[in-house]
Order: sequence, then C-alpha cells, then structure tokens
Amino acid sequence: MAATSSYILDDYETTFRNVIDNELTTTAETRRAVDPSTGKPLFEVPVSTQQDVHRAVAAGQAAFPAWRDLSTDDRASYLLKFADAIDANRDGLGALLGKETGKPPPGVNMELFHLGNLIRMIVPLRIEEELVEETEERKVVRRYVPLGVGVGITAWNFPMGLGVVKLAAALLVGNVFIWKPSPYSPYTALKLGELATCIFPRGVLQVLSGGEDLGPMLTAHPGVAKISFTGSVATGKKVMAACAATLKRVTLELGGNDAAIVCADADLATVVPKIAFLSYVNSGQICLAIKRVYVHETIYDAFLAAFIEVVKTFKVGGSTDADAALGPVQNSMQYAKVQDLYNDVSKQGLNIAYKAELPTSTTATEGFFLPPTVVDNPPDASRIVTEEPFGPIVPLIKWSDEADVLRRANDSLLGLGGSVWSADEARAERMARQLEAGTVWVNSHFEITPNVAFGGFKESGVGVEQGTDGLKGWCNHQSVWVRKSAVAAEPFS
Ligand code: NAD
Repeated sequence: MAATSSYILDDYETTFRNVIDNELTTTAETRRAVDPSTGKPLFEVPVSTQQDVHRAVAAGQAAFPAWRDLSTDDRASYLLKFADAIDANRDGLGALLGKETGKPPPGVNMELFHLGNLIRMIVPLRIEEELVEETEERKVVRRYVPLGVGVGITAWNFPMGLGVVKLAAALLVGNVFIWKPSPYSPYTALKLGELATCIFPRGVLQVLSGGEDLGPMLTAHPGVAKISFTGSVATGKKVMAACAATLKRVTLELGGNDAAIVCADADLATVVPKIAFLSYVNSGQICLAIKRVYVHETIYDAFLAAFIEVVKTFKVGGSTDADAALGPVQNSMQYAKVQDLYNDVSKQGLNIAYKAELPTSTTATEGFFLPPTVVDNPPDASRIVTEEPFGPIVPLIKWSDEADVLRRANDSLLGLGGSVWSADEARAERMARQLEAGTVWVNSHFEITPNVAFGGFKESGVGVEQGTDGLKGWCNHQSVWVRKSAVAAEPFS
C-alpha cells in the first residue's frame, strides 16, 4: 500500500497481527489481555514463537544495509510521515488505548496528543561527526555508526509513548527496529506496527506480541545488536544478564522512587495542586511520578490539609468516564502489588490521612480500581517510603534540616528523578544538584522532552534515552585516524 499521511486504519477491534517484514501474520496460539476498567478480556493477539523471532530478526538484518545507507534526512522524512499517520488515526488509537490501559480521556489525551510530536522533536536531532584533531600529519574523526537490529521491550503504563521514543531514535540514526510491547498492553503497539507497513520499507519496523517468554527469546538472539528496555528493576537485571551472553548493547530505563522536597518558603497555593497532580497522575503509574513528598515541618500541617483537598477532587473512573481524572491500575499483577502496600500501611498502623471512597461506577465492575490515598508522615523505613508503589498511594513526610532531608531523599537504591520546591530558586537549585537522580527539577517534576537526555542513577537504569546522547546509544562509536600521506611522519612521532 502506498505511503500516505492520510492513511487511516479501518479496524481497531477485530484483528491484531504481528508485523514481520511488512506482513501481518498471526500465530497458532493466541491470547487476550484484559480491560482494566471492566476486568473483561479484550481482543485476541498473537503469541509469537521462536520461529517468529527468527523471521523478524532475519527480515531486520536484510533491511538494515539499505536503511542504514539512506541519508539521515531521508530516514527523517519516513518518520515524519509516520507521525502524520499516527495523528490521522488519533480517534481509533485513543479508544483502543483507553480499553487496554483503562485511562480515562484526559490520560488517553496526555499520551496520544503528544505522540506525533515526540517523533517530530526527535527527527531534527543530529549526531554529527566530530573532528577531534587535525594537524599536518593526521586527522582524527569521531563518528557514530548504527548497530543493526535494535529491539525495544516496553512496559504497559504508556503502551505507545515508550515504544515510539525508542523506535524514532533507533530508526533515525540508521538501525532497524523490532518492538515487543508488554503482554498487558499489546494492542496499540500492534496497530502502530500495522500503520508502519504503509510507510516504511520491509523489515525496518516490526512488532511482535507474545507471552512472558518472548522477551527472553529476543535478549538471547545473536542477531539482535541492542536491547532498549523500559520496565522494572527486577526484569532489567535479567535483561542485562541475558544480553551479557552475546554482549549486546543495553539501555535500561527502570523504576523510580522520586522525592519532592518542599521548603518552608514554598507558596502552598501554587505548589500543592502541582505536587498533588504530579503524584497521582496516571494513578501513580509513571516512573517519574512523585512518590515521596518531604514537606518542611513548619508548613507540614497546612500542606497536608491543602493536599488532601486537591486529592479529593480527583474523580476515579474507567476509560469511558469523561469526568474521571484517575483510572484503574493497569493489570491484575500491579493491582495485587499495590493492594499489598495498602495492606502493609494498615498492618503497620500508619496514619492514613485520606482514603477516597470509590464511586459505585467503579466498584460495580471487576476493574482494578484503587482509592487515592495519602499516608501521613510514615517512618523512613516503612515500605510505603522505601518501595515504588506505582499506584495511587503517596506518603507525605516531615523534614527540618536541609542536609538531613537530602540524605533521606538519597537513601534509596533508585535514582530516577527528584525535585525541590522553594521561592528561593538559587537555594532550591543548590539542593536539587545534590539529589542522586538522573533528572532533577526546581519547582517542577516530570518535565521531559525528546531533546533532553533522560536516564537513571543507581538501580534506576543504565544509559540514557532521548537527546543526542540517546541517539549515540543506538550507535557504535568509531574513531577514524587518517595519516596524511603527503607528510613523511612515523606513527607515534
Ligand atoms: P516488567 O519489568 O514486568 O516488564 C517490562 C517488559 O519486560 C514487558 O514487555 C515484559 O513482557 C518484558 N519482560 C518480562 N520478563 C522479561 C525477561 N526476562 N526478558 C526480557 N523481557 C522481559 O515491568 P512493568 O511491570 O511492565 O513496568 C513497570 C515498571 O516499569 C515500573 O518499575 C516503572 O517505574 C518502570 N518504568 C520505567 C520507565 C523509565 O523510563 N525509567 C518508564 C515506564 C515504566
């Protein structure tokens, strides 16, 4: 089919196929993910086999040389057509995203509205050759060479966005790409793959759906040059161990337990609504959501009261509830994990300052709904402080001494993001720079754009995505030494 920016998919609900070498294929075995708003099974998707993996890798290897040899501008123009096609399919993709994630309309829009623009912001990025040295005797150039077949393995909290930033960077610099979405949210990724068949040459962008054995098949495959992984710390460690066997390149974007430190001079009317939103948005299922709020003791009570008032306004509802702000947790595994944390808070006798009543529209379903909950000043060693909940439960914690709160914020194996909130920007920046995290903000949190590198300290990750550093992660780094023949000089002279 001809590539056209107005290409519209006509079916978002009946057929979901793997995309291998621009062919839509299915498998003998199929499975269904679950609609988190209702607990009911959704549509059938393929369960890829080792054979499917071999075919996709072989198709990628065959496509790689021609794609690599295009100019970056030519590859960029394919990506821009893809961005236009995504925008043209927003309505259908949005409804499907709601079904597979349970996100109410604002959450769907948050992911979908920016999707095309994420690609458009990555496309102008360039990694130019660098002239390291030029003398009469020699020239030394540093250049960046694409790796080959790249694989993106993604989590379920942003089923399209997490894959799209990976594939745009990988393809732009000349790799081909296989996307493995989460088994909990395979639908929109497969539809994006279907859309891609109308735009990209064969084998350039492929999508495989499967069960929990598909990731290991890809990390083990000797024909895969790189794994870019977004998911949990535990799985990230398995991915890195598996990739060691073939020394694949690995980027790991893993969990976070981001602290927000609120200073005594912060203007509550301004910061409380922002911090509450950034803690509960997407029902807390964001790696960079605020997960611990450290509030200076002199404003703690007022902050807590104002915070609860904001959280009370967050209506919980399913994907078809136009008034809802927060949807369900995305899957039964995550529901059980977060429920376990709620139980632990009760078992430890911690003070629950607020726990919402769930609306009957949610309790009447088998959906994975949990009540937005605020925990009041739990001990530092409690699980709600030390673990990443990835759900709508947030601890507020008192602090009094600057050095001490920085130590407590940094007392974590995770180091994804962190923020400091104060009327004194210079002081806040000085404090923020002491946070052990890949991204730190002053009077903000979860601001990310594709032109700024993003990654974690400690167990939150390895390597970065986005920005030109992210593009370099999709390349081998090559140094080219040219000894000038006109000059009679010996090496090492
Ligand atoms: P997960 O680790 O369970 O799964 C992530 C992906 O890995 C899925 O596609 C899964 O099928 C696959 N997988 C599972 N076992 C595998 C294996 N052995 N080898 C290869 N692949 C395997 O994570 P999740 O529950 O989907 O996601 C939640 C986590 O993701 C949270 O910790 C969250 O903080 C993190 N996350 C991080 C970022 C970031 O950019 N740092 C973004 C979103 C989510």
